[in-house]
Parts: sequence; structure tokens; C-alpha cells
Amino acid sequence: MLIHAGVLIDADGKLQHDVTMSVVDGKIEDIMPGTTKGSSTSYAVVTPMFHNGHSHCEYQALESVLPSSAFFPWVRDVVRLKLRLPPKFWFYSTLLGVTKLLQQGYASTGDCSDSGFAPAIMAALELKGVCYREVNGLSAEYDRPRCQSVIDGVLRSDTLTPLGIAPHAIYSTCDSILEDVANRRQSVPVCIHVDESPEEEQFCRFANGPFAEMYERRGIVRPSPQSSAVRHFDAMGLLTANTLLVHGCTWDEDDVAVVQATDACVAICPESNRFLQCRIPPVKSLHDQGVRTVIGTDSALSCHSMSPMHQMKLLMATNSNVDFHRWIFQSQVTPMNGNAYDVVSGLPADFCAFGKGVTLERGDLSGVIDKLVDCVPDVYRSGQMMTYDVNARLQSALVTVVKELSLH
Ligand SMILES: [Zn+2]
Repeated sequence: MLIHAGVLIDADGKLQHDVTMSVVDGKIEDIMPGTTKGSSTSYAVVTPMFHNGHSHCEYQALESVLPSSAFFPWVRDVVRLKLRLPPKFWFYSTLLGVTKLLQQGYASTGDCSDSGFAPAIMAALELKGVCYREVNGLSAEYDRPRCQSVIDGVLRSDTLTPLGIAPHAIYSTCDSILEDVANRRQSVPVCIHVDESPEEEQFCRFANGPFAEMYERRGIVRPSPQSSAVRHFDAMGLLTANTLLVHGCTWDEDDVAVVQATDACVAICPESNRFLQCRIPPVKSLHDQGVRTVIGTDSALSCHSMSPMHQMKLLMATNSNVDFHRWIFQSQVTPMNGNAYDVVSGLPADFCAFGKGVTLERGDLSGVIDKLVDCVPDVYRSGQMMTYDVNARLQSALVTVVKELSLH
């Protein structure tokens, strides 16, 4: 099979213009300049598949249910909404979420799951990555035993999709549960939402704001760490090279230095941050200090496009430097499948092909990304084009169900 690309983007963000890829036995055999006679198809842009640094596939059917707002009322509504939905809902919504990521060209994800359906569905549909099982709760007495059994389950697990543990966030998880995770995790990956919103910052650094008021109203003792959440987690021993820190919107230079020293990885979710009126994290500082960074969507409750292009566009707009743009692209293209078009080693032909039959004017990396924001790719895995038509019908059925539930 021969596929012509107006622009071919390598995993390191370098562009090649007007090339033809030859795919033999599911692997890329050669990349040749120009249009070769007999090309099966011509595309405007061909890219490697992507890695979603942070997702919650189980929320996919709730897309657009909540409006853009400040963080605190949004998270309060999420908790209320979750209580009204039956277990069956979470199964179908997770199926929809995993399918959506595959459609958008993701080969892998770091998914957080409260309902626990994601690992089996990811394995069944061959979405690679890690599934972090959520543990949270503000009561050591009532919530800790439940969380301990989730941790036990993760430590005993032998699933095709590797499992991790996600103590949700400082405002939702008491210190005794956080300590259990730090003390018992062994080599298991851990994922935490950290320093996301202005409200979280108010509680963590200044012991005031809506979270502090909520604890007081409910009679819950939750002392403020009087520092950023990331420093609190570091003091508990939660930051290691196998810890994924999600957001970091309110970090200063000292916080970034703490993260850099522990070699923890950071997941940035720019569309979600904007939807919830949070700041964009200090991406330039993460880049300059060599912090390991991935880019994610977060859930459909705060991110509507799920397009990797949209996330990259928002971040590239923060800085015009070409090396910075390439770093953003590298952060969105998998740490784990690393699909550079390395014709020497003959990697599986897994790639996204955008704009069938369309000619794109030459441009730089950010200009090319900019033009693909609303495009859904043809996704090729091992040289075969994947189609997900059945799930498009599932999607419309689920959206109807969810809208009905949310109206009552
Ligand atoms: Zn999240």
C-alpha cells in the first residue's frame, strides 16, 4: 500500500513535505519523496498516533451536560450528577469514551476510573496505556476501608491493562488515604489531580475559599497544608518517577523545581483548564526545566473536542518559539508507543491521516496543527484502516439517555 502525504510529521515534530509512505505487511517499509504512481490514497497530513496524558473515559456520555463555569460549582455538580446515574450507565459511557479516543487517533491513554470498567474495555478495544483506579473520601472512618480494598485489588491485579492508583485530589481525599497510597503503592503508578483551580489554591495556600467553607459547614476537619498541594504530596512521599501529576495550573517556579527534582511526570489539560476558568500551567517553565510532560484532555465534562490537535493548538498559542512547538508535539505523541516513522526498524504502520484528497499549503508545525483542529483522522493500525461506525450509533443513543436523566 502506498499513501501520499502532503505533510508528514515525525514523532519529534519535524515536517517532511510531499512524501509517499510504502506499507508492507503492516509495517512502514520506506518513505520516498514525491508522489509515487499507484498511491492508494492521498492525505493533506499524516502524523503518528497520539497519547492522551489524562482522560476519564467513563464520563464521555456526559459531554455538554454541564456549562462552563468556575471550578467549585462545577465539581459540586459533578458529584451530584454521579450519584444519580446507575452502574450500567458507567459501562456504556466508558465504552463510548474509549471509542472516542480511538476515533481521534489516540493509541494510548492514562485513564482515571471510578467505576472500574475502563481496564477491560481498553484491553478489548486495544487502547494501550494505564488505568488508574480512583480512591477518594474525606472520612478516615468511613471511606478509608473502601479505599484500602481498591488498593488491595490493584496490588493483586493481573489485567491486560496495567492498573495504577488515583487518590483523586487534596480537596476530596483525606490524609490517611493519601498516606495509605504512599506507603502501600510498591511499584504501582499513581496519578493525582494537583493545584488545578483558584479555589484549590485558596484552600491550600491560604486556608480560605469555598473548600474551607464546605468543610466547616459539614463539620469535617481538613487542615490546610499552608503550601501548594504538590509540596504537601511531596512531603508525604507521594512524588516519584512513577507519579503522574495532573494540571499544576497554580504552580510557581519553586513548585516546578520540586517536581523536577522528583522526576514526576506532569499531565497538562489546556482545554479543560479554560472551560473551568483555571490558569494555563507554567508550560514554558516545565519545558525549560526539562520536566517530563504529557498532554491530556481530562473528561468530557470539561473538554468537548477530545482532539489532540485542539489541545496542542491552545498550548502552542502561548509561545511562538519553534522548538517549544516541537516539544509540545512530542509531549502529545506517546511516551509509550513512540511511533516515529523509523523505516530502519520497520515499526508497525500505526498513524493518523487527515484531510483525504485535500491539498494543504506549506506551513510550519503550529500552522499545520491549527488547520487540523476540527478534523477527525482516518486511523490506520498495522496498515489497516480502523472504522468505528457501530459506535457512532451507540453515541447518539447514549446522548439521548443522558439528556433525559439530567432533565429529571
Ligand atoms: Zn481529571
